[in-house]
Amino acid sequence: PETITVQELANRMAERAPNVIKALMKMGVMATINQPIDADTAELVVEEFGHEVKRVSEADVLEGLGGSEDKPEDMVSRPPVVTVMGHVDHGKTSLLDALRATDVVAGEAGGITQHIGAYQVQMASGDKITFIDTPGHEAFTAMRSRGAKVTDIVVLVVAADDGIMPQTVEAIRHARAAEVPVVVAINKMDKPGADPNRVRQELLNHELVVEEMGGDVLTVEVSAKQRLNLEKLEEAILLQAEIQDLKANPEREAEGTVIEAKMEKGRGSVATVLIRRGTLKVGDIFVAGTEWGRVRAMIDDRGNRIEEAGPAYPVEILGFQGTPQAGDDFVVVDDEAKAREVAGYRQRKEREALAVKSARGTMEQMFAKI
Ligand code: GDP
Ligand code: MG
Repeated sequence: PETITVQELANRMAERAPNVIKALMKMGVMATINQPIDADTAELVVEEFGHEVKRVSEADVLEGLGGSEDKPEDMVSRPPVVTVMGHVDHGKTSLLDALRATDVVAGEAGGITQHIGAYQVQMASGDKITFIDTPGHEAFTAMRSRGAKVTDIVVLVVAADDGIMPQTVEAIRHARAAEVPVVVAINKMDKPGADPNRVRQELLNHELVVEEMGGDVLTVEVSAKQRLNLEKLEEAILLQAEIQDLKANPEREAEGTVIEAKMEKGRGSVATVLIRRGTLKVGDIFVAGTEWGRVRAMIDDRGNRIEEAGPAYPVEILGFQGTPQAGDDFVVVDDEAKAREVAGYRQRKEREALAVKSARGTMEQMFAKI
């Protein structure tokens, strides 16, 4: 059932909380400032103060906010989005750096690159792959816990001289839970102790049956250090992507996911957003989690200011009113009024949830003392 805390109710009426508590008392309801009260009681209080009652349901607020279906004929192939995972020191960062250097476009332009949390590589064939540039299981888990599914493929890095280690197993578990297929990069092939077949054998113990053993898991032997077989790894990723038939409608208002967000001196709140579908344009008004804004400028992973960004493209966005969180859903809306309404509604919801939690905490403390 819908509830509101005494404090929040007071805020919305621009009244002092003690006065609201007094009004409640007159009605025979004993409440503390952080206590949630039901909507019917709240309505009586609002009338008592001579305000007009306006109940807004969640459905009203969120109506028309993204999520609408695309027609099959509008769907166009899009690049895969890849996350690199694996045991510490097996070469995730090295591999991400090496893969980034395979980009033919950056190569031509002289290769000024920016760290914005994700980057896109264009291969000589013209095919593109988007890599999330924050390796590690935490980011992956944090995003998933916020309901975001950004990754199409996990590249599991396993050092050929070390084999499957605890965090490798953890990564396999994450990928499986998220139902994301795995491509295995057997790294450090340049090292004397490299034993790729042992890695393949060990993968079997974790229900990853590699192609060489009759399964469907692709493995590629690479060396991030010597930049060996990186194109082969990219081809394996594209093959895996082809099986998934990844498509999106670029001709609609944009939706995406926040990959990274921070407050920067002189720039305000900036966030990297990975577009899921549609095309984002400078000037668009958006909501991201509890925040909203208007796209003031967009910067890509090569440091270029751009006017538009389509599916699977990562862009840094300036123009946020506040700092969103990694994993937040990003949706373009019609106008500022809608953006404010949705963000405001979510902020209130968040405050209420926190208040309920702390009220519960206080109650538990009280009972613990008895
Ligand atoms: P991460 O913890 O998984 O991100 O691993 P790093 O990329 O930081 O690499 C850990 C160490 O392994 C560093 O000293 C790298 O230089 C080294 N390393 C990474 N890839 C290779 C490789 O292909 N060959 C060799 N010999 N060393 C590598
Ligand atoms: Mg690292």
